[in-house]
Amino acid sequence: MEELDDVRWRAVENRDDRQDGLFVYAVRTTKVYCRPGCGSRQPLRRNVEYFATANDAQLHGYRACRRCRPERSDVESPARTAVIEVCRRLERSSGESPAELAAAVGYSERHLRRTFAELIGVSMTTYQRTHRALTMRDTLRDAPSVTEAIIESGYGSMRAFYDYDATQLGMAPQRYRDGGRGERIRYTSVETPLGVVLVASTRRGVCSIQVSPDESEMVAALHAEFARASIERDDEGLVDVALVLAGAVRGDADARRLPLDVEGTAFQIRVWEALRAIPPGETRTYAQVAAAIGSPRAVRAVGSACGANVVALAVPCHRVVRSDGSLGGYRWGIETKSALLRAESDRAVP
Ligand SMILES: [Zn+2]
Repeated sequence: MEELDDVRWRAVENRDDRQDGLFVYAVRTTKVYCRPGCGSRQPLRRNVEYFATANDAQLHGYRACRRCRPERSDVESPARTAVIEVCRRLERSSGESPAELAAAVGYSERHLRRTFAELIGVSMTTYQRTHRALTMRDTLRDAPSVTEAIIESGYGSMRAFYDYDATQLGMAPQRYRDGGRGERIRYTSVETPLGVVLVASTRRGVCSIQVSPDESEMVAALHAEFARASIERDDEGLVDVALVLAGAVRGDADARRLPLDVEGTAFQIRVWEALRAIPPGETRTYAQVAAAIGSPRAVRAVGSACGANVVALAVPCHRVVRSDGSLGGYRWGIETKSALLRAESDRAVP
């Protein structure tokens, strides 16, 4: 299917009044917003931005066109009313499934999908993805952290955000939020052949995974890193996470599926995302990772980003080695890195 932006521009170009009420377009040069069907002079595409509602356009400093009166709602057809309601729910990232959305407006799922695609011109998924990406860009300017922005934009978790494709969003560099002030962090630990794995999680996702023989040292490090958070042990609540990590150490579970709540600069996040794409049993060199993120000369910076990774196993920085075949560094010890790689390659060989 086409992108929402293309569909909307075509509606503006054709003065398609069937799209009236479904969105408004605003012209940066005149600071006026219109219905798609407005008869006023056509703007250049590069000066146009779109808003789901008249209210959004007003909030961004645009005023309503006197000719087409886009601030007045005069939606009459039941199909349009239903689709507009679904748009509002998708924009709020209510988390409802297509079936639930359909039920909410009294449609069958199939009928809603068809009506939505007919009226809006893209699928519900594309609509929501586009809206989230736009919200993300807006939110990043004001949010205290990348994670906050991710959550406020409706991604729900770092995981969902990664699924979307973080590299497209032009993220601003952010620093770790104020010692975790106001956060409630729970942790647990699990014994493995490599030592103790200590994992901590906010309510959004895993924020720290450490590997060491010395548990008390890791707990101290956790308190130091999140000096202003409330931190408590929760073995029961995190048992699933602990099991995945114990399996990952043995080479028979994939820790990349854990939801994450971590922060980094835009560059670090690109590197971490590239690391999450390396399957168990495989390795990449620092130079390959640099090439994969489109910065082939940033080999040393890739190394630093690997070193800055706070979630061992879930962001598998142990799968990155030097071009000469030597292991390079590892925050949790070179023996641990080599043992992890050995376990994974043993599993990978049929
Ligand atoms: Zn107008």
